[in-house]
Amino acid sequence: MPYFVRFDTPSVKKYVFATKSLKEIRGASAILENLTHEDARKVINETKGEIFYLSGGSGLIMFNHETAAKDFASRLPQVFFQRTITAQVKIASKEFKESTPFAEVRAQLNTLLATTPPIAPIGVSLSPATPLCSACKANPVKKLHDFDADSSESLCEACLKKIDHMKKRKDKISHLPYLLGIAKHTNQKTATWNPPESLATVGEACETRKGYVGLIYADGNQMGRALERLEDHQPEDILQFQEIAEKYREFSQNLKNALEDAVYSSIMEAHPEGVIDEEGITQFASEILFLGGDDLLLVCPADHALAIGAKIAQKFEDTASIKKKGMSLSVGILIAQSQIPIYTMQAQAEQLLKSAKKHSFWLDKKDASSRAAIDFSVLTTSSAQDLSDSRESEWQLKDGTWLTGRPYSVQGILNLIDWAKRMRDEKISVGRLSQLQAACRISKAQGNLALFSLLGRMEPHKRDVMMQIFREAGAGSYEQPMWTMKPRWGQKTPYTVINDILEIFPFI
Ligand SMILES: [Zn+2]
Repeated sequence: MPYFVRFDTPSVKKYVFATKSLKEIRGASAILENLTHEDARKVINETKGEIFYLSGGSGLIMFNHETAAKDFASRLPQVFFQRTITAQVKIASKEFKESTPFAEVRAQLNTLLATTPPIAPIGVSLSPATPLCSACKANPVKKLHDFDADSSESLCEACLKKIDHMKKRKDKISHLPYLLGIAKHTNQKTATWNPPESLATVGEACETRKGYVGLIYADGNQMGRALERLEDHQPEDILQFQEIAEKYREFSQNLKNALEDAVYSSIMEAHPEGVIDEEGITQFASEILFLGGDDLLLVCPADHALAIGAKIAQKFEDTASIKKKGMSLSVGILIAQSQIPIYTMQAQAEQLLKSAKKHSFWLDKKDASSRAAIDFSVLTTSSAQDLSDSRESEWQLKDGTWLTGRPYSVQGILNLIDWAKRMRDEKISVGRLSQLQAACRISKAQGNLALFSLLGRMEPHKRDVMMQIFREAGAGSYEQPMWTMKPRWGQKTPYTVINDILEIFPFI
């Protein structure tokens, strides 16, 4: 009877983003890539497993015998700990009858995995006197690492491995596979480019406001439904499970190709010439921090973040193999100063992603032609809290009126960028718009008064641009010029796009 093993790396982001430094993040991401595609694959081959999928530290594997499955399940954590020192792994395994519908196999393994505790590497006991790693500040120091002649740091074993891994890779192929992927997808000159030196370098490449980066966190929608379609017939023997496995592998490959193509081309369109540092060396302006399955995290200069995020979602959804499956992306985009710890940024971007997911679910329910959804935020000290709380307290008036239209569809984001650019080109003053925003925060009526006063003082062509934008946003009526009355999230509460335009103003 077929025996299935499902595994996952539960705290994968925590492992990848344990430090602030882009070098270690890059190393961690590469270790994970190797761990999945070389180390885990080797154990699967040796134990004669059949791969359904394998990516980003997770996988679903079928074995013909319990002994082989158990052998695999006992060897896998060893490989994980050897490579990562600190990453935990979760494994669920179960035997199924040949006649079990595959959707049920998948559902049961998911439940089993969710309730299985992770296997953690044996920790080193820390006493208050133990010196901690200067990079991750979590594990005991293993040794002093010399970055170059005049900088060295006391690092733990996990962080040392991340750095060492990057070095080895650099000697061999000079860049991460992702960067090579970009070179492959565009013209060859990028093969000689360097990855960005640090998050500060990425922030410096933001032309409209120096020092700001955008963190883009994307994830596939309607994945479960797409998988169900691969499992439409009931298996009668193990051969038919193998057929499903074949379909799964093809699906994973299509997903990977579609996401990579969308990401690489969007990044390159934003900065076709890269950025040139003080020493005259060309670097990529953006970097992919994590890409596995339908899961993506990338950092880019803030002034391109919204456009890159929207384009990735659009291109992914427009890919033939993805369109056929009715899949799309949800995207969370956080704009923040480059010195904010990336782990903090990632946690915020994750909340934005969740909010985008809800919107996508709604788009799907009302059968919209595009189901991709995007939410964004500029990180300020006041927004560094739970997103749903801050959204309501910051952006909703007592009468239910919303001061934001977020989350948006892809077209919604492209519109916002266009509107902000047109206002900027018309030299409509940010100061005046801020007064308008302050009035809106008091009440809808105050907002209206402030708008009428603003329009009254404006030169006619500026007024026309403002009114045209409101009309394009579904507002622009004589009595309520800036309030869009159409339902948002199925709720018939009015909202205005003016604050969203104002928020992205410095980053377009
Ligand atoms: Zn460390």
